[in-house]
Amino acid sequence: MDLKVSQVSRAAVFPQAVELPPRVIGRFGDDSSGPTLIVLAAVHGNEPAGYRALRSLFSRFEKDPVELRGSVVGLVGNRQALAEGRRFVKEDLNRLWLPDTVARIRAAGDLAGEPEAEPEAEMEEARELYLEIERVLTRAQGPVYALDIHTFSGPGPAFVVFDDSLPNREFALELEVPRVLGIEEELEGTLIDYLDTRGVRTAAFEAGQHDDPASVEQAEAAIWVAMRASGVLGRSGEAEVESASRRLAAAARGLPNLFEVKYRHAIKPNSDFQMRPGLRGFQDVARGEQVGTEAGAPVLVPQSGRLLLPLYQAQGEEGFFVIRPIKTPWLALSARLRRLRLARFVHWLPGVRRLDAAGRELEVNLRIARWLPLDFFHLLGFRRIGQVGRHLFLRRRDEGKGPRDVEF
Ligand SMILES: [Zn+2]
Repeated sequence: MDLKVSQVSRAAVFPQAVELPPRVIGRFGDDSSGPTLIVLAAVHGNEPAGYRALRSLFSRFEKDPVELRGSVVGLVGNRQALAEGRRFVKEDLNRLWLPDTVARIRAAGDLAGEPEAEPEAEMEEARELYLEIERVLTRAQGPVYALDIHTFSGPGPAFVVFDDSLPNREFALELEVPRVLGIEEELEGTLIDYLDTRGVRTAAFEAGQHDDPASVEQAEAAIWVAMRASGVLGRSGEAEVESASRRLAAAARGLPNLFEVKYRHAIKPNSDFQMRPGLRGFQDVARGEQVGTEAGAPVLVPQSGRLLLPLYQAQGEEGFFVIRPIKTPWLALSARLRRLRLARFVHWLPGVRRLDAAGRELEVNLRIARWLPLDFFHLLGFRRIGQVGRHLFLRRRDEGKGPRDVEF
């Protein structure tokens, strides 16, 4: 397969001449042994902090090489949108990694560098990114990790989100900022969801507000910590990791360290959603409190908790989330239950049916299994993938990560 991306095809898709950032920001270390860390930046084009952090870190590595036991590669997600300073050009690059689209991306990627006829902007970005990721996965000899760096439009502290399988958890918990569980159940087609299906251990780091210089520093700190957590970093970088960890912990001071998503406010198309000015991430909100307007009507918080990702930009599908702290012993309990592999027996419960022989997917009839809350399935390592009426569909998270084929 020719992995070169045709310049001719790109010019056809993006006729406007803007100076584009490179797809590969840098590549350091040796991928023939040890783990690999992929750092993704600017999957949303108006979130340049990760890109700036990688540029600064890599120019430092060039002058003053750091000892590595594996390799680290920095990739730009949406080059065109980054050059134009907007979230996306036609569609959100972080919502299109769905089975059908991935099949199209793969098919286009396999066509010796030529995209399908007249692809949409983000489909071309996805095709190029897919090829670059495949290149990394093909060459990697050890485990592969990915840290996807984002920022947000409102003010608020940094945090990390991850699909809560034990390998992802082990990686993400090294970042000492609040951890938010369950966002992946609310969003479809994210890039890290796709990487997860490819056996990559993943976490997404939300570094701070889009254009705050502190977000670049937070992103750089997160990359240092991720380099150690993935095992990529040799001993010589220990002092930097320590100061990076302290920096992250200082920014998170006073906040509980574990939350779960309780509510996602999906914006209706063309509804002129407006967030009430002055709201911050992680601030307390009470049930019934007005946090914005939509289609001329007040938007009220449906349940008390803390506000996450209040939207202060034009592009985006989520107005805000409501999260609630959960107790940290939950993590130890769920790890223990998963190691006991209790998920194997869960279909013995009334109202719970296996959808495949291995029991990876379940259908829960909520009329019968009314007494089983979603939390119970979370503990055992399942995530919600959908609901039709009173039927809940769940999939077991992959607890034994290793390179494997796409399941789509
Ligand atoms: Zn983002």
